[in-house]
Amino acid sequence: MSHATRPIPLSPVLSFSALRRARGTRTRSVLDAGEARFVTSGRIAIGLALREMGIKAGDKVLVPAWHSPSMVPPVLWRGAQPVFYQLRADTSADLADIVDKLDDTVRVLVVTHYFGFPQPEIATLRALCDARGIRLLEDCAHCLIGEHQGRPVGAWGDYAIASSMKFLPIYEGGLLVSARHSLRQVALRSAGPGFEAKIALASLEKAFAHGRLRAARAALWLPMKARDAAWGMLKRRTKAGAVPLAPDSSDSSFNFDPRWIDKRSSWFARLVTRLASPARIAAARRANYERIDANLRGLPGGRALYPRLPDGTCPWVFPFLADDPEALCERLRQAGVPVVRFGLPLWQGVDDSVCATSARLSRHVVGFACHQELQEQELAWMIETIRKALA
Ligand SMILES: *Cc1c(COP(=O)(O)O)cnc(C)c1O
Repeated sequence: MSHATRPIPLSPVLSFSALRRARGTRTRSVLDAGEARFVTSGRIAIGLALREMGIKAGDKVLVPAWHSPSMVPPVLWRGAQPVFYQLRADTSADLADIVDKLDDTVRVLVVTHYFGFPQPEIATLRALCDARGIRLLEDCAHCLIGEHQGRPVGAWGDYAIASSMKFLPIYEGGLLVSARHSLRQVALRSAGPGFEAKIALASLEKAFAHGRLRAARAALWLPMKARDAAWGMLKRRTKAGAVPLAPDSSDSSFNFDPRWIDKRSSWFARLVTRLASPARIAAARRANYERIDANLRGLPGGRALYPRLPDGTCPWVFPFLADDPEALCERLRQAGVPVVRFGLPLWQGVDDSVCATSARLSRHVVGFACHQELQEQELAWMIETIRKALA
């Protein structure tokens, strides 16, 4: 069996079951942590959070040495200076190094819950920030959903951000959340009808490309043709220098375009976010994660980054610590298995001298899809292909 003609989706795609509810217990998400604003990406939410905190030139923002390069431009946009702190091998923030780096100009500590696994010492980090008068920005880009020590993720930070695109079948979407501060003054407006249409149709097209929503595809064939025509017209009318129809964050670049700072997420993305069931998504992701874990355990060539999946954790991807990541990724690429390389490359200048652990994680961690929209045969084929690539 091969998936060469119908590639395995690396991130969730829209399906008829995507909005189905799960029975049983309620699962909380960052939306349960506090007041929320729907924006177009996680990085825009970081920019807004920093603006709300009054970050300006001369301020320093502590950023983990293992990061998405998209986390840094919002700091520079404020005129502030990013300072990179070290991580431990288990991806926890190195408290001693953070304390070492504190001075009067450090205003914000950014803490990332990698791959959906909450930072074990988040309560201590919160207490440290309170004691030193520093703001905590909780980066939930990898954990839209989850609970830790009895609270929803996002409840510790002064502000929390999320990247809804990483968990839901949508083309743009980020969240700014605060359990501590009012977001009343954060005013957002629509990016316009062209944007609204593009986002809805892009989600449908991605679903069709992966063989989902077949009935809808047939029904929509004519409207899609009409859309292509309208789209061409709209593009011709979009003047140079005007706000592009979708943010850079939607096409896997790390750019930060401040023109999106005051734009509301699309109607379609907000609808999907509101309708999606955290319980169903968490249950499916956890089951897929556990299955990948069980099937790769004990094989040569590497190991799971985390020894176990804690209760309440909803994983983003399955992070595998590969001995020879380049060879593994090349074999997987040839076979057609998509992978995530988080934090590769790192921000310019962040290397072994800044944090050897982060540099090693950046090079060696390979993420496998475990999202809720993987179909049984896709998951089975992916696991078998990874096993062969490791053997
Ligand atoms: C993806 C990511 C972001 C930014 O999210 P976008 O929605 O892509 O802008 C922030 N932090 C981390 C850790 C990420 O992986």
